[in-house]
Amino acid sequence: MDYETFYRHSIEAPEAFWAEQAQLIDWQTPPRQVLDYSRPPFRRWFVGGTTNLCYNAIDRHLEARGDQLALVAISTETGLTRELSYRQLHREVNVFAAVLAALDVQRGDRVVIYLPNIAEAVFAMLACARLGAIHSVVFGGFAAHNLALRIDDAQPKLLIAADAGMRGGKVIPYKPLVDAALEQSAAPPPHVLIVDRGLDPQMTRVAGRDLDYAQLRKAHEQAEVPVAWLESNEPSYLLYTSGTTGKPKGIQRDVGGYAVAMAMSVRYIFDIAPGQVMFSTSDVGWAVGHSYNVYGPLIAGATSLLYEGLPTRPDPGIWWYLCERYSVRTMFSSPTGIRVLKKQDPAWLRKYDLSSLQWLFLAGEPLDEPTAHWITDGLGVPVIDNYWQTETGWPAITLMPGLELKRVKFGSPGLPAPGYRMKVIDEATGEEAAPGHKGVLVFEPPLPPGCLSTVWGDDERYLSSYFGHFKELLYSSLDWAIRDEHGYTTILGRTDDVINVAGHRLGTREIEESVATHPAVAEAAVIGVRDELKGQVPVVFATLKQDAGTQAGQVAQAMQQRVVDQLGGIARPSRVYVVNALPKTRSGKLLRRSLQALAEQRDPGDLSTLDDPGALEEIRRALERGPDQT
Ligand code: ATP
Ligand code: MG
Repeated sequence: MDYETFYRHSIEAPEAFWAEQAQLIDWQTPPRQVLDYSRPPFRRWFVGGTTNLCYNAIDRHLEARGDQLALVAISTETGLTRELSYRQLHREVNVFAAVLAALDVQRGDRVVIYLPNIAEAVFAMLACARLGAIHSVVFGGFAAHNLALRIDDAQPKLLIAADAGMRGGKVIPYKPLVDAALEQSAAPPPHVLIVDRGLDPQMTRVAGRDLDYAQLRKAHEQAEVPVAWLESNEPSYLLYTSGTTGKPKGIQRDVGGYAVAMAMSVRYIFDIAPGQVMFSTSDVGWAVGHSYNVYGPLIAGATSLLYEGLPTRPDPGIWWYLCERYSVRTMFSSPTGIRVLKKQDPAWLRKYDLSSLQWLFLAGEPLDEPTAHWITDGLGVPVIDNYWQTETGWPAITLMPGLELKRVKFGSPGLPAPGYRMKVIDEATGEEAAPGHKGVLVFEPPLPPGCLSTVWGDDERYLSSYFGHFKELLYSSLDWAIRDEHGYTTILGRTDDVINVAGHRLGTREIEESVATHPAVAEAAVIGVRDELKGQVPVVFATLKQDAGTQAGQVAQAMQQRVVDQLGGIARPSRVYVVNALPKTRSGKLLRRSLQALAEQRDPGDLSTLDDPGALEEIRRALERGPDQT
């Protein structure tokens, strides 16, 4: 079927469309009603249907593909690789579920999972799903304060943690962070279940509270834990947004709608059939990890690769080596990951046999055109930018090569995914913006299956955060977008990332794109800085490619000139700083908020999501030293 027919069907007859897609998963009881939209914008998909995510991800495949690889967990940090067939995964998840049950984890209870990107994180998630417990994975790189915030909000019955993670060959102890978080927390769970990787010999345990997984598992090695059949709209998991713009929200996902969205998207967007191999480089702590390292590929009966490590260790060819080794068909990563590789020799992209690789999907932040070209040319496979949010749980704007590969337009994630009634709204008029005109990207409710049901414990916040921005009832993405006459949408940045220069509104993304066209530039961040005369002026911070070899001053001047040539004098960066690193969140998103605060000599605010404190120091030094170009 072609994309247009498929998409149109999903919009014109959503109930018929999703009823068909619902057949991609197994139900214990089939749904009574496809959609209940009696309380807009809240909606309930597949009402009355009962199912289970763990059953769909594992049990139902045992007969046909019990011996096929389900999960390959690779760590270039510890040097360990674990290959698990569906049967072996079934065993491990049953054992984990039995341990959780023995600790009185029951249906509806929350379990916070604070683990690195290792197989046990997948076991723990699926074990919760099996029991009907609600997992909330907190990215292992988050500091104690972040963990405590999430614990207080989710109020878990149990916390699962590791002794340590590793990054770039360095052990990063987790347990002291866990201890500190529980100290700060107003609702500490009674137990911490520790997956001891043997990485931190100094780890201390709190008697009575801290339990050792390896020890408990011995009593349950042969356990069979029955699947809890959940009504489609019961919560399956919580995932807190990454907090680039403020206090994180507990995104709540359902069971049936999510399972159907996973099955549909893996097949028609990511082009993965049972038995094929998908490699997402994400961490399970992010939305991509939940959907396309764990639930999506497993629900599809595919093989999922999980990777702990850097893209450049042991060498910058490691991802491509893994593609060859496991015959990966679809790979999923982020623009940040690719920009890291862009600083390296492109010959690494050609070192391995990539004949199995069909698609590279990238998401999470804008994919600038130069990076898109670099990786497309280097790999020789189509690169598919796709736009989504933690809230949506799966791509909202993308191309769908599993159905039909439409033309790739560089700089644009493409066309709306099935079920998304997408509009671009002019902020001033509240009306739909014409093609070529900037506006706010919105979705008309009811949102398709798989998207958030609400904000955990806070329906009001769900309404005010997402649905309170326009006269009409619309889900606001809080991102700027522009659509061309063919419906291709380009994301221009977040609505709070707009610079107002002497009354002209400029998107930071446009200026960043322009700066990044300079061949020596690896990555650029543009912010608006207060200015007496103009209100705000654009300021550029940029890193250069390793082999750039040019004078920072020269490149800075050339960057400025490019912006003037491409966007006009009004967008002329008033200062350009060449730096060694940019401040980012642990998920690889630029922390423009903190950059801006520093540049305006304000307090950079909550830095707990910051990846590398050194990057902020680097900015401070650059500001002191003065710009490379004014
Ligand atoms: P918070 O909502 O807590 O501030 P966040 O928005 O950074 O954090 P995510 O849900 O992980 O957390 O990120 C979604 C955002 O990432 C989108 O709203 C958009 O701004 C950006 N984004 C994701 N994919 C793309 C893409 N393909 N192109 C451009 N921007 C993208
Ligand atoms: Mg967001």
